[in-house]
Amino acid sequence: MTNKNFSHRARKRFGQNFLTDTSIIEKIVKAISAKPSDKIIEIGPGQGALTELLLTSDAELHAIEIDRDLAAFLREKYANISHFHLHEEDVLKVDFSSLLSAEQPARIIGNLPYNISTPLIFHLLKYLAGVKDMLFMLQLEVVERMAAVPGSKSYGRLSIMVQYYCQVEKLFNVPSSAFSPAPKVESAIVKLTPLKQTANELESPEQLTNLLRQAFAQRRKTLRNNLSSLISAEELENLGINPGLRPENLSLDDYVKICKHLH
Ligand code: SAM
Repeated sequence: MTNKNFSHRARKRFGQNFLTDTSIIEKIVKAISAKPSDKIIEIGPGQGALTELLLTSDAELHAIEIDRDLAAFLREKYANISHFHLHEEDVLKVDFSSLLSAEQPARIIGNLPYNISTPLIFHLLKYLAGVKDMLFMLQLEVVERMAAVPGSKSYGRLSIMVQYYCQVEKLFNVPSSAFSPAPKVESAIVKLTPLKQTANELESPEQLTNLLRQAFAQRRKTLRNNLSSLISAEELENLGINPGLRPENLSLDDYVKICKHLH
């Protein structure tokens, strides 16, 4: 609890697991290392565990919170802090283009509600031109999927899409005991840094999304099977890709190569 006068019953539907371990909170804020010139967007500030310390940096901070009671609490608590801006909204519906600009790329951070973390990451990937970096607390399993290499069990659509856009760094694990209530799953901090677009750039990343949906439709089948409606085995071979491989054996570059061939 970050405030003695405020008692809030954690709401499961909003994925509320509040950070209570001071040393972990400090470690996360240190990893962010905010500067006064930063523009920070915090997703799900909750009772302000991270917000409180982040505000001491003097950075402009925009906090997006869906829970009406928590929003009211934060609004009152930081009423006198001019660099604090509260947005009482569902983050999945926020049009980030109104908050972001390429001139002052923002840093997006948050101990994310685990029930919406994957759709939220896909939502944010659309706005990276105005993003400097993102530092999130997520389920360890999701962080492992983001950072996974080809051929590993965790490697799949999420790994490839996130790695197409960002450099992925897993920073450290966070035990369940650092939260109240304690989540049933382990957690970890991940840093995502948008890549400057390279030769890999596709005309439309939608093409990659669609290709991956098809390629991973049946994980245990070969590319020849999963991609039969899009590309022939012979064409795959001509691209230097063995059609007998399974989808998890291809690198991001291989998928980009197939996309470019198809479009
Ligand atoms: N940052 C706080 C902490 O570390 O103690 C709270 C983290 S808690 C895991 C997730 C927070 O996200 C909660 O405050 C919850 O109300 C908020 N939240 C859940 N769904 C949301 C949504 N769709 N849009 C905005 N905030 C949301």
